Amino acid sequence: MDTIRSLMKQHMSLSAMRALANSKVSYTTAKKYIKINGFVAQDLKKYVASRKKPLATILSISHAQINSKNKMTRTYRIANPSYLTLVKDGYGISKNYVPNDLVTVNVATASADTPNKMRKAAATALEKMAKAAKKKGLELVINSAYRSYTQQEELYNEYHAMYDTETADSLVAKPGYSEHQLGLGVDMTSQSVVDGKYSTFGETKEYQWMKKNAYKYGFILRYPSSKTSITGTSNEPWHYRYVGKKAAKECYINNWTLEEYILHHGFDTKIIYAE
Ligand SMILES: [Zn+2]
Repeated sequence: MDTIRSLMKQHMSLSAMRALANSKVSYTTAKKYIKINGFVAQDLKKYVASRKKPLATILSISHAQINSKNKMTRTYRIANPSYLTLVKDGYGISKNYVPNDLVTVNVATASADTPNKMRKAAATALEKMAKAAKKKGLELVINSAYRSYTQQEELYNEYHAMYDTETADSLVAKPGYSEHQLGLGVDMTSQSVVDGKYSTFGETKEYQWMKKNAYKYGFILRYPSSKTSITGTSNEPWHYRYVGKKAAKECYINNWTLEEYILHHGFDTKIIYAE
């Protein structure tokens, strides 16, 4: 009875509980895996057989797809997104998820209708970063920040009308799988691009400056050119992700993507295996 009560506290689904019972693994053995975010009851037998440390076991068996090189077709849902939530193919957020602390970012935008809201902490950090850049004579501009599920869906459909499926998929995330819906992803540009002096952000001094300094404000360059196979996303010099100062610094020092950060630390929130 206590076991069932504690499993229910873990928000375990009925089918997961069934899988747990069918595995015939003792609760004492199972317990050390169950408490780790990312645990999948259906994989329990494989965990026990692997004889590695619980976290390493769970990440490599149930979540090999964190690294996009390892293709898997599993889908997970993040129940309560955090600053460190991994959102990518296979790791989605609910259609209804809207961060409850969205605010307008007080930084210049590329046009009058540029989406310029982010979660409070990310907005404050971006404002500080833009101010610091300005002191160096650099003008950071927002190209796109928070996008709702519906806005992402519209964008996705637009790209799919313009390009073939493969190209479109490499350029725009599926609705429910975009960091923009988290309110933590932002596409940056610079005034020099807006003015037409450069055609892309990657050519600008602002980009060079952000690459070196964004971590000080809690942002990471999310899709670097050298890590496209891990992230599964092509080089996006403009897309930055707020993860908080501590994690951003660790990623910067170690040259890690968010995927690599999670492979070292595990998930910080519950994720649900959507069977
Ligand atoms: Zn983006």
